[in-house]
Amino acid sequence: MKRFLQWTSILMAVALVTAFVPAAPFSSMADETAPAPDRTDVRNGWIDENLGPGVARWVDKNGNISDQPGKAEEESEATKESSSSQETQEQTTQEQKTEESSQESGTNETASEESGQAETQPAETGRQIDPNKPMVALTFDDGPYAPVGNQIMDSLAQYGGKATFFVVGSRAAAYETELKRMVAEGHEIGNHTFDHKYLNKLNGAQIQSEINRCSDAVFAATGVRPQLVRLPGGNKNQTVLQNVKAPMIMWSIDTLDWKTRNTNKTIQSVLTKVRDGDIVLMHELYPQTGAAALDIIPKLTAAGYQLVTVSELAQYRGGVVPGGVYSQFYR
Ligand SMILES: [Zn+2]
Repeated sequence: MKRFLQWTSILMAVALVTAFVPAAPFSSMADETAPAPDRTDVRNGWIDENLGPGVARWVDKNGNISDQPGKAEEESEATKESSSSQETQEQTTQEQKTEESSQESGTNETASEESGQAETQPAETGRQIDPNKPMVALTFDDGPYAPVGNQIMDSLAQYGGKATFFVVGSRAAAYETELKRMVAEGHEIGNHTFDHKYLNKLNGAQIQSEINRCSDAVFAATGVRPQLVRLPGGNKNQTVLQNVKAPMIMWSIDTLDWKTRNTNKTIQSVLTKVRDGDIVLMHELYPQTGAAALDIIPKLTAAGYQLVTVSELAQYRGGVVPGGVYSQFYR
């Protein structure tokens, strides 16, 4: 019996050793392949959320951090690259290639952007806005971002609506084809600064530089200069008001799409509040916003709303002046 107990304790000791020994190298391997030295405990959530859309960053379930929510998850499945800046560059290059190849294909019907243009250009001449009927301006900030922007434009083409895209100038060159499509299909491109700096933190010269560089980037891509400005985060002070020499467009419905990233909440935030003359704030970077737009566009159209650009809305509701601040154009 005593011998049996000795054997039992030896076996238990061996079992304990074999259970723990492999654990040590495994955990050190796991550390080597971890995404980055952990900067946050957040998973499936925002960091820097208080800094707002375009600045706040998303952490996926694996701890990958990205500026564009949804991007890290897609990429971590495709590649295990650890540098987020490399990933950003790779993604941009891939999208440029896609856009280039669709340009090269020319008559190829699979080039959805080109076929989209061909379909909508004739309809352009037939566009009529009835000033007596309700109208709403849907606005999408922080793009261009072709995967979502093209989805929105496809739906608008189907229902004869137009939207305003307040774009970030530093992104313009990477999405030239998408920007050209916006212009070709009668959408409005607005100025959302060159690199989404909060203008209330800058001096006058810096503010003007942010606006002018965005304008130059959009002009280089499309041959058109944005006429309207949307301030990143809506942040303004006296210096901003003195140095932005264009109408500044705020909003009357804030969908908080960037924060909830919830298609249904985004849809409801519009449909439960919408009224004639509203300016709706959404963000182009999020697939959930694209999905919401696919529901909002037909429903608003069916409810009798004309989907117009901000400049069109302003034109029928008293107009805008340089340096003016507008959040809606109610009758
Ligand atoms: Zn923004």
